[in-house]
Amino acid sequence: MVTAHVQPGVLDGAAFRADFPVFDRPHRTGRPLSFLDSAASSQKPRVVIDAVADAYAHHYANVHRGIYELSEDATHRFEAARDALARFIGAPSAREVVFVRNATEAINLVAYSWGRTNLHAGDLILATEMEHHANLVPWQQLAAATGARIEYVAITDDGHLDLDDLRARLARGPRLLAVTHVSNALGTINPIVEITRMAHEAGALVLLDAAQSVPHMPVDVAALDVDFAVLSGHKMFGPSGIGALWGRRDLLDAMPPFMTGGSMITRVTLDGADWNEVPWKFEAGTPAIAEAAGLAAAIDYLEGIGMAKVRAHERFLFDQAWAALSDMPGIRFLGPDDSDEHAGVISFMVDGVHPHDVATILDGEGVAVRAGHHCAQPVMLRYDLPATTRASFSVYNDLDDIVRLTDAIRVTQRTFGTA
Ligand code: PLP
Repeated sequence: MVTAHVQPGVLDGAAFRADFPVFDRPHRTGRPLSFLDSAASSQKPRVVIDAVADAYAHHYANVHRGIYELSEDATHRFEAARDALARFIGAPSAREVVFVRNATEAINLVAYSWGRTNLHAGDLILATEMEHHANLVPWQQLAAATGARIEYVAITDDGHLDLDDLRARLARGPRLLAVTHVSNALGTINPIVEITRMAHEAGALVLLDAAQSVPHMPVDVAALDVDFAVLSGHKMFGPSGIGALWGRRDLLDAMPPFMTGGSMITRVTLDGADWNEVPWKFEAGTPAIAEAAGLAAAIDYLEGIGMAKVRAHERFLFDQAWAALSDMPGIRFLGPDDSDEHAGVISFMVDGVHPHDVATILDGEGVAVRAGHHCAQPVMLRYDLPATTRASFSVYNDLDDIVRLTDAIRVTQRTFGTA
């Protein structure tokens, strides 16, 4: 049982809520919003909203084109956002950071550009059973287009990647392993340093889906030693419409463009074109200019807190929520029970109640959670479930959210007469 006054948590959730205008908006119940769906998309702090507005109001022109002051200012700010993101994720060079729309586009870029150049019939691609659809379907499409094979690393009953299964599959010589850092459906934090070492020893490249880790914990792509990493701005307090691919420079240099058109060229004739250098080779057309300003502000905001503190806070909330839900009858969980290996995402089932009904009743109590397959249908199949209810945490959550979550689940159980 949790009571909101028992422990303050690591960060002051209420103070953070004051930074996010959405929490000024009353829920239809008249109660404040308890937002437990940051894994789907985070709320936006005022500094990010203001940075986007300021970019449009005072710094807006197309980038990489103009030779007038305003365009140079816009270009400078756009490239400064790239520098900020490179620093934030430990990229050795900002030239290795490609702006795209989201993590999904970044994975499609690698699958298309690296994959169609380097993979041939019979080659093996490894993914895992816990991937988001964004890290499954592009590889399936690549396999279909090239004749490559695709295999999936198994998940254990308690929600870990099965490293014995990984070892066995790596022995078959895959060209690439596509693996998530944090599972959005299970909350599992995968041991990427160990996984990457194993993959590299077997001669496979590693693409890391960092969509659920970069917003919630320190991530250093160089220290993790992966070859590609992808993320989405909208999950890390930034705007939607901007995300990034980070890739090793030698790999990016050798890859053909994904999309073609303006900006990504150095010279065009009626007979053909020469490609720009990375990262611009992969940024065809006008990019997300104001969104980049918002992303830079989001990074600044996260760096101001410190990612170790973000992680500690969400871990504290996870521990409290797991303990509180474990005390209740009729609740089952997915994913590891140890918070060393579990991010601030709890996927659970309320016995006898469909997850969509749970989420609907919780919404009636002002508690916003996600219910469904979380774009990870193979995870649902693995555990023979139609869906789960998922609560996920951010800096603006605190123990009060967990009290409200557990109270609302009790209302659900009373409504359905299941406990
Ligand atoms: N990978 C993971 C682990 C995710 O959780 C998500 C989104 O939920 C994605 C990839 C795809 O992100 P986006 O929809 O922003 O491309």
